[in-house]
Amino acid sequence: MKLAAMRNEEIRKLHDNALGQYEDFKALKLKLNMARGKPCAKQLDLALGVLEALRARSEFANSDGDDCRNYGVWNGLPEMRGIFSAMIGVPAEQIILGNNSSLQMMFDCVSKGYTHGYSGYAPWCKQDSVKFLCPAPGYDRHFAVTEYFGIEMIPVPMLKTGPDMDIIERLVQEDETIKGCWCVPKYSNPTGITYSDETVRRFASLHPAAKDFRIMWDNAYCVHDLTDTPDTLLNLYEECLKQGTEDNVLFFASTSKISFPGAGVAALAASKNNIAELKERFNVQTIGPDKLNQLRHILFLHDIDGVRSLMQGHRKILESKFKLVVDVLEKELGDLGIAKWSEPNGGYFVNLDVMNGCAKRVVGLCKEAGVILTDAGATYPYGQDPNDSNIRIAPTFPPEEELAGAMHLLCICVRLAASEKLLSERA
Ligand code: PMP
Repeated sequence: MKLAAMRNEEIRKLHDNALGQYEDFKALKLKLNMARGKPCAKQLDLALGVLEALRARSEFANSDGDDCRNYGVWNGLPEMRGIFSAMIGVPAEQIILGNNSSLQMMFDCVSKGYTHGYSGYAPWCKQDSVKFLCPAPGYDRHFAVTEYFGIEMIPVPMLKTGPDMDIIERLVQEDETIKGCWCVPKYSNPTGITYSDETVRRFASLHPAAKDFRIMWDNAYCVHDLTDTPDTLLNLYEECLKQGTEDNVLFFASTSKISFPGAGVAALAASKNNIAELKERFNVQTIGPDKLNQLRHILFLHDIDGVRSLMQGHRKILESKFKLVVDVLEKELGDLGIAKWSEPNGGYFVNLDVMNGCAKRVVGLCKEAGVILTDAGATYPYGQDPNDSNIRIAPTFPPEEELAGAMHLLCICVRLAASEKLLSERA
């Protein structure tokens, strides 16, 4: 029965019951962190071969004969660029490999816009007003980058098909101070949705008023399928070529959640014009990326098939965790009408929307009982969720027994917060 349809006495009973369970949980003195989407140790073990790969080798040259122990090869090893090319659908010659973080490459691309500008236009720091579109809920660290540069963030609602393209099209056409748009197009962080073909085509067809506008296409979860019915994402680069809009986009990916977060390989891909512009910057910034790490990734992964089979190993570990999360939500909240959640086909998160005005309370209650979740609001620009309803669940890191306990606690807190709210509204 829906909570809202219950009589006050029934809600009070449900509330007191949840409170009792909550106090029992508190007594257990749990200490569990589900705040960030980190792989668990078992997943990290899958890639231990990366660390072994170089030991068995007496020479350190790549296929072009470059000694990977030395400086040089500004854009990274061709074999590794080939692997990324197959992952994100942009030609290998138009890929620049960075070091261990695609987020750093995104920061750098925003920084370039800020200090030097794009396509010959004035640096953003010299323009009166600079704004970015931020599909929300979205990735908090994207928003942190734009906030750091003082760029005004405009939230755009996320629909089942991706960001609301009616709003994006209208805003970029009428406002030349809009210089960018953050996107996580596949298994989006945190909603888990993949942009529809129509959404991708509409991104490719954008004709922004600002000629120095860039779509930040962060394909962090491009090979992170968790089911037999994986989502498919249309290739934005190819769609842009058809429209002649390829200069509008910067593409990003990394092996952070394939091999090791913080010790993987990151990539930036773009049109020929954009790569030529970015080359100037990269050649000043560094005498070359960490090619030994690229080489050992190549020796371990070999090619895109190697990536796909490694991702099967990740899926084996993660599938049951995601199922557990969704099962507990269904069992404990299913018929109450106080929450909605995603059932993603891949990625790293389950998205939970609780009753408006309850997310902060739920996250606070969980924290008091020893379970740390991502801060409520973090998935919105400036940390402000207008409905105070969105909670990001990151099931990958904790072992299953702990995850089960944490999910049970979370559901208790959702019931507690919703019943408190309804009772106070009716008082
Ligand atoms: N983009 C998204 C959407 C993410 O969720 C994350 C965190 N895993 C990153 C980028 C960070 O990637 P990297 O480790 O390559 O900096």
